[in-house]
Amino acid sequence: MTFDEFNIDETLLDAISYMHFEKASPIQEKAIPVALEGRDVLACAQTGTGKTATFLLPILQDLVKNGAHGTTSLVIVPTRELAIQIDQELQGFSYFTNTNSKAVYGGDKGKDWDEQKKAFTEGTNVIIATPGRLIAHLRLGYVNFRHLRHLVLDEADRMLDMGFIDDIRQILSYVPAKRQTMMFSATMAPEIQKLAKTILNNPETIQIAIAKPAEGVTQSAYMAHPHQKIGLITHILAQHPDFESVLIFTSTKKNISSIVSAIKRAIRGIQVEGISSDFEQNDREEVLLRFRAKQTKVLVATDVLSRGIDIKGINLVINFDVPRDAADYVHRVGRTARADAKGEAITFISESDIPRFVRIETLIERSVDKLPLPPELGEAPEWKVVERKPRKKKFYGKGNRNKKSSGNHKPFFRKKKQNTEK
Ligand code: ADP
Ligand code: MG
Repeated sequence: MTFDEFNIDETLLDAISYMHFEKASPIQEKAIPVALEGRDVLACAQTGTGKTATFLLPILQDLVKNGAHGTTSLVIVPTRELAIQIDQELQGFSYFTNTNSKAVYGGDKGKDWDEQKKAFTEGTNVIIATPGRLIAHLRLGYVNFRHLRHLVLDEADRMLDMGFIDDIRQILSYVPAKRQTMMFSATMAPEIQKLAKTILNNPETIQIAIAKPAEGVTQSAYMAHPHQKIGLITHILAQHPDFESVLIFTSTKKNISSIVSAIKRAIRGIQVEGISSDFEQNDREEVLLRFRAKQTKVLVATDVLSRGIDIKGINLVINFDVPRDAADYVHRVGRTARADAKGEAITFISESDIPRFVRIETLIERSVDKLPLPPELGEAPEWKVVERKPRKKKFYGKGNRNKKSSGNHKPFFRKKKQNTEK
């Protein structure tokens, strides 16, 4: 469906078309009408499906229609990068309106603090804030949330992962009870549902399928021993000289600098940088800017970055190792093929990674092609799925009378159900 089928103001529709949004994404189609009614929303959809516009447009519609005095809307986000990104998208949508906004996040510059304080004291309409910095301002007493009517928790799953739950509860004590609350998450984990119960009021729950990488991503994998991985990167990049932006994920922060220097040694003159939560935020931003501007071709990052980065035109995501949490695979892979574009994701699987990769295949409900390692890199480890309940001779014996005989011999990644039969 197109955006003009929603009941939203012309000024917003104009901005939407300037931003080249043509069709609403499935989450937008389902959740925007509910949010426009002012109802609470719990929305769950994979990354890259357009959740930001899902909450920004209904908020802006309310502000355009009913006027905005003071701070009317608060968006809480896990990271500085995300705050900036949402603020930018908001500035696009609100271009033809009188709404103003401010991203509020931690940093070390006094100037930032003063500007943020000014945004609060002047009653900036939409505040997009990270929890810690927001609380620091709240404690000083000048934040006025009396006019607040929208509260959004974006990437709620990430915020829980990052241990922001107490901060969120504290923030809730400062906002009016009568408000519209919207919660967004990429996963519908039990903790998310628990949190939703306590902060949402009779919400409409909207869930778009289970987490699966966007359609446009081609996924494949290589079995590889750790010492073969740099050679494999060299091989892959040599195959795709046209790729401008390649994102490499690793689960371990301390691996980043060694991967970066190994790539530098292996491929002469390549522009490669690393980024992790250990970096100062300013440095992180600069690294991201260079990557966005395609000055840096290869960026090596950790999972913390996998949810926050929205960079168009990432051609390839390489998982240097298999993420511990299957949902992180979806987040990592979701960095490519943003919004209908095409992209590629390649995962390196070492022997010890196999069970984790099997969990991922279960989650995404498909098996990923395992490509043969280029012969010059030597012998690859074997892809061997250990069945959870190996079929035993006495399988049909007494103890298993209730079990159906079919299905149990299949590897459990095909369909979970088959093995959870009672
Ligand atoms: P999510 O929060 O679900 O991960 P985002 O809201 O960040 O996803 O959207 C991902 C990208 O898709 C952004 O660059 C956004 O501008 C773009 N986008 C979102 N909705 C649409 C749409 N309906 N049409 C085109 N592009 C869109
Ligand atoms: Mg988002």
